[in-house]
Amino acid sequence: MARRKKIYEGKAKTLYEGPEPGTIVQYFKDDATAFNAEKKDVIEGKGVLNNMLSEYFMLGLANVGVPTHFLKRLNMREQLVRSCEIIPLEVIVRNYAAGSMAKRMGIEEGTQLPRPIVEYSYKDDALGDPLVPEEYIAAFGWASQQDMDDILSIALRVNDFLSGVMYGVGIKLIDFKIEIGRVFEGDFQRLVVADEISPDSCRLWDIETCEKLDKDVFRRDLGSLTDAYTEVANRLGVMPKGQPPVSKPTLIN
Ligand code: UDP
Repeated sequence: MARRKKIYEGKAKTLYEGPEPGTIVQYFKDDATAFNAEKKDVIEGKGVLNNMLSEYFMLGLANVGVPTHFLKRLNMREQLVRSCEIIPLEVIVRNYAAGSMAKRMGIEEGTQLPRPIVEYSYKDDALGDPLVPEEYIAAFGWASQQDMDDILSIALRVNDFLSGVMYGVGIKLIDFKIEIGRVFEGDFQRLVVADEISPDSCRLWDIETCEKLDKDVFRRDLGSLTDAYTEVANRLGVMPKGQPPVSKPTLIN
């Protein structure tokens, strides 16, 4: 079989050239990193769970009219997506204080914010993805004012959708990060939700117990990351109940 061309290898995913022009295969790895890759591990089954969960959220978003890069899932670890030019921003939406914001503002984690807050970090690992004011974005030419209006409206729609879906299964959406890509169609460009939406890029707390069901389990050594992600997948009905993300050998009689 011909080897496929690798386009890019990131911390949690590898991108390969897709079968048609303008398509890309996203392969979800089991690698987990935190604190700008200072903490690393391989968590068996994480890639499978994130592939399935990201498919679920992207399809749901498309169903409510939010454009995404997702085309179809190919197998347990790969999905076909539209190739797009990623805007170099992490678009972060917060409903409750947590993580860097709780620290920066001295607010207790879990405090509900007066309204959803959208903030932007410049995607640059060497700089540690610094938080940037909106004025930098236009001034440095990363996105136009029209793009920023569209990004804000996409981010808030994603927030409403994800918050509702999660609330329905007893989970509070504390915050999340999305990335936005440009897709070119002739002379026109469209903005779409790109990258992934998974417990790697969201904070998810059980409504009753405040148990963490996201990457903080890894960042803060709170237990098994696969158990946490499997719980999210089971509640959403994404992985059939009892089906492990990693298939184990079974005895054939
Ligand atoms: N996030 C992410 N990738 C990043 C930084 C943040 O997916 O490089 C997500 C993170 O999982 C959380 C939200 O964005 O859901 C807000 O993260 P925060 O700024 O609090 O950063 P952290 O606490 O991870 O430093």
